[in-house]
Amino acid sequence: MVERVGLDRAAGRVLARPLRADRDQPPFARSTRDGYACRAAEASAHRPLAIAGSTRAGEPPAGPVPPGAAWEIMTGAPVPAGADAVMMIEHVEAVDGSVRLLPPRTLVAGENIVAQGAQARAGDELFGAGTAIGFAQIALAASCGYPSLEVFARPRVAILSTGDELVPVDAEPAPGQIRNSSSHMLAAQVSVAGGEPWVLPVAGDNAELLDAALEQASEAELLLITGGVSAGKFDLVEPALTRRGARFHFTGVRIQPGKPVVFGEMPARTGSHLNQNKNGKKCFGLPGNPISSAVTFLLFAAPVLAALCGRTHGGPRFALARLAHDVNGRPGLTRFLPAWCNFAGEAPEVARVDWRGSGDLAAMARSNCFLVVPEEDGSLQAGAAVRILLA
Ligand code: AMP
Ligand code: MG
Repeated sequence: MVERVGLDRAAGRVLARPLRADRDQPPFARSTRDGYACRAAEASAHRPLAIAGSTRAGEPPAGPVPPGAAWEIMTGAPVPAGADAVMMIEHVEAVDGSVRLLPPRTLVAGENIVAQGAQARAGDELFGAGTAIGFAQIALAASCGYPSLEVFARPRVAILSTGDELVPVDAEPAPGQIRNSSSHMLAAQVSVAGGEPWVLPVAGDNAELLDAALEQASEAELLLITGGVSAGKFDLVEPALTRRGARFHFTGVRIQPGKPVVFGEMPARTGSHLNQNKNGKKCFGLPGNPISSAVTFLLFAAPVLAALCGRTHGGPRFALARLAHDVNGRPGLTRFLPAWCNFAGEAPEVARVDWRGSGDLAAMARSNCFLVVPEEDGSLQAGAAVRILLA
């Protein structure tokens, strides 16, 4: 589905139709300096050139510049006919209505001028459908006269937290209960990734309640379920998805946290019949611990959501940083440790944040990325170039 949004509301959306230049960019040969338009060869001879006229930004193209003359010009103004370069005001000596380029400086044709159409020609595709719209694309769209843009509708993403121990954020937890934090966290992650979060009430660890919640959630384009995907007695999500005919692309990944994550597709329904041939509804079972949910969202759900948003580039964002200190651990699983990357220094430097396991929300709130520890070794040495997963 495609909708139209005003330019000032388009940031973070995905363009649904290619955007074309309405006219040449720049629309006229433009001076990039305050100075004097001239012929480069004449200026380079260092003889005084009489000032024949003046053009400021916003005035129509003027000229022609007579031979042996110069023309006062401001930044952003159209270059007058006959001129092929602009001498900077800082580089000339002005005497009695004429200017002279100061030796030993010389000028070449084209200097300090951006030719008409140098950036784009009228009708050129400036960026294609599937482009994520940011400040740069908005500036370009504005320069081409688009007050609004056609973008893909945000896909609706159902978020279903499961667990008998969970109470809403505004409730006082009884002994043994905790507040549902992951639904709010995932709603934020979904919004950032371009989706429209739809938070469902928590479902208890009970097959009937889960079935009812899945029925309701099936109206969304993507379904994120948290909790209940491990091997425990009350981990009922996978069986509930199976009852709805889900096929799993994977059940479990060699990562920590997040090992039990499942990704599947529920068949589309035609009336009351399951239709295995139509494109299914994608669903994730994310492990319940909030850091596990956050990491598996970034690694697996966010790219799927990006594709549903119509984006052509939407993979997880990894970067390299220098490790501040040794990290020791066991091999066997790729680990994603909450970490702080300092981007202010000469090169990005990353240090892990002290944490007490994948339920440690305070540690995650002190981090700005996840340090990736490869499964082969399990340890990393201070000073090494290491990968980080950007949040
Ligand atoms: P589970 O995957 O259901 O075994 O849950 C693992 C851990 O995460 C348990 O300690 C749960 O209490 C906790 N947990 C599960 N869902 C949530 C949630 N929505 N918010 C906060 N903690 C949760
Ligand atoms: Mg649970």
